[in-house]
Amino acid sequence: MSTVDFIKDQMRLRCIDGVLTERLVQEPAAYGLGRVPSSAKPDATVNSVCGYCGTGCSLKVHLQEGSAVNLSANTSYPVNLGMACPKGWEALAPLSATDRATTPLLRGEDGELREVSWDEAMQAFVSKFKGIQSEHGPAAVSFLSTGQIVMEEMAFLGSLAKFGMGVIHGDGNTRQCMATAVTAYKQSFGYDSPPFTYQDFEESDVLVFVGANPCIAHPIMWQRVMRNQRNPEIIVVDPRKTETAMAATTHLQIYPKSDLMLFYGLAARIVELGLVDQSFIDAHTNDYEGFVEFLKDYSLDRASELSGIDAAELDRIAQLIGSGKRVSFWWTMGVNQSYEGTRLAQSMINLALMTGNIGKPGTGANSITGQCNAMGSRLFSNTTGLLGGRNFENDDDRAHVAEILGIPVECIPNQQSLSYFEILDAVDRGEIKGLWLIATNSAHSWINQSRFRKIREKLDFLVVQDMYHSTDSAQIADLVLPAAGWGEKDGVFINSERRIGPVRKVRKAPGQALSDFNIFRLIAHYWGCADLFKDWDSPEAAFRILARLSEGMPCDFSAIEGYEQLNASGGIQWPYPKSKYAVSAGAPVAREDRQRRLFADGQFFHSDGKARFMYEAPRAMPEPPDEDYPVILLTGRGTSSQWHTQTRTAKSDVLRKLYPKNPYAEISLEDAKALGLEPNGKLVVESRRGRVEVTAVILPSVQPGQIFMPMHYKQTNELTFPAYDSYSKEPSYKACAVKISKL
Ligand code: SF4
Repeated sequence: MSTVDFIKDQMRLRCIDGVLTERLVQEPAAYGLGRVPSSAKPDATVNSVCGYCGTGCSLKVHLQEGSAVNLSANTSYPVNLGMACPKGWEALAPLSATDRATTPLLRGEDGELREVSWDEAMQAFVSKFKGIQSEHGPAAVSFLSTGQIVMEEMAFLGSLAKFGMGVIHGDGNTRQCMATAVTAYKQSFGYDSPPFTYQDFEESDVLVFVGANPCIAHPIMWQRVMRNQRNPEIIVVDPRKTETAMAATTHLQIYPKSDLMLFYGLAARIVELGLVDQSFIDAHTNDYEGFVEFLKDYSLDRASELSGIDAAELDRIAQLIGSGKRVSFWWTMGVNQSYEGTRLAQSMINLALMTGNIGKPGTGANSITGQCNAMGSRLFSNTTGLLGGRNFENDDDRAHVAEILGIPVECIPNQQSLSYFEILDAVDRGEIKGLWLIATNSAHSWINQSRFRKIREKLDFLVVQDMYHSTDSAQIADLVLPAAGWGEKDGVFINSERRIGPVRKVRKAPGQALSDFNIFRLIAHYWGCADLFKDWDSPEAAFRILARLSEGMPCDFSAIEGYEQLNASGGIQWPYPKSKYAVSAGAPVAREDRQRRLFADGQFFHSDGKARFMYEAPRAMPEPPDEDYPVILLTGRGTSSQWHTQTRTAKSDVLRKLYPKNPYAEISLEDAKALGLEPNGKLVVESRRGRVEVTAVILPSVQPGQIFMPMHYKQTNELTFPAYDSYSKEPSYKACAVKISKL
């Protein structure tokens, strides 16, 4: 095949990944998804929210003799309306993998992991961690959790560790995806409050996707966009020609990290044209004057020069945003995973505020969530914020939580936790000696991976609690605790639009694996603090405790009585407070209340009820390309069939057929030609931190001087540069300097 034909073929395949996902969504059976084993006749069906992404689709899981044999997409759930992406259709497959952790494993003196009983595992857990704490202080043990376990487990973990075990510092992998959105919302709106409902995808006139590729990363959300009957303008801001960019009406293929300048330029032009909603600004915001003053240093021409987008095109976009049409902004990791992500997210929030595009159908500055329960983690992981979005440093907050939980207030630490990278830095300095990883694979997913592995050597004891004994992190653990996975336990997730949805146990966990909830109960017993958690005797009991803890907070869902109500209501969005819904407490939610957005009344969560304009001068890329490392490495999701470190998606025969097995990099025709690269040739990619060999995929999806590597292959994080947003402390995965050569 000639190079030109090859490129055409690759482009077709790239386009097709979006189209393929669409077809998989619409005709799953044609791809072998959702097959009913011939011997299985389902005799019951249970609704359960999918355990992968933050879309929060509901799946109908079909049971035979009480165990799941198959599933289909729930047609009556307001999120997915009968659709599911390949990962959802294959959600049961990872449960049957042969490398499931089925018994605790403890590393012996010979360095080998050996099967032990739960009693031995618990004795080791307690004696090692208590030993470390008595020698080095309580803060010498820490934990890193996840956005993948149910909210009840997340809250139990954070409470057990901090109130029961005396741990001070714990964080989770939501730091790697949503911390920036959290911080941006808190500063701008006064609380972590994504304002939208998915109906807004269908009701916008202009949708602006920034650093987001919903065609493959959130395919069901993209299907909701496709249902929009308003002939919307779809604008994609992305340095890469992604599947979504190809399907958009406008692609602004910006120079990497010029996005903040771009949005300030657009804001400056909107002010210049007088297209702001002055009455909304006056009534509902603070510091607009300061923002206008700040914008004097920015202009459309400057934005055009730095982003590489024609000024006339930017002028058209500015006029569109200020036109009075329904405009919505949507972002994901291209924004969150940036060294200036908080200000970048807020540059979109500013645009929404100044044009009055918030609180109305089809509007909003909307962060799309990564993991299935990132929102549950944000509210109840008890890591960097106290339960319910409270503050560890606030005396009243601690007293209130202690009263509701019936525990002594002295059990609650009065200091903020360190964030993920600060915890690892503390390990590196020798201050943290014991680490507990729960349902996360840091040895693959953490930025600048080789440093994580070096740091691990400084730990006295590493515990990994996971479904599989084969993850990169479990392989280097001292103790592996076998956990049940999605489908093997009950609880709730909260999705991107704040919808609390039920997750159900539809299979028994293999061997001696226990639900994370029961592992925490066991640890509480062996640690000697079970009394503090005597009311946490089931996931649903824990859910009711959390509902009480939410009362009076913006996330108040105190009118939800339990799982049956969630199931009968198609999930319930927070807020759902008793103060407003007391009459219907326990009853299915009224149809008109099933799609709700925040701020319809213009009241934000700061004490004066107003939103704030937040802004700051853009900064240079932390590791810009130079003579030695002249190419920018971009990273992101590869296909709709891959999830994060592929711990689960690699277990499905069907999904494995839908994505490339080996790591690859997309490279432009110009760069490939300069290197003399043939299609599918081998490419060496080197950064100051590592060297990897990958397959070259020659495509016009990336611009010359840039390459793209998917995050799912562990080679990618051998290269990434450890920079962090100063406010959210989220890693900046998306751009670093590399050099490339032909192997
Ligand atoms: Fe699951 Fe997300 Fe796919 Fe829906 S879009 S089926 S929630 S992975």
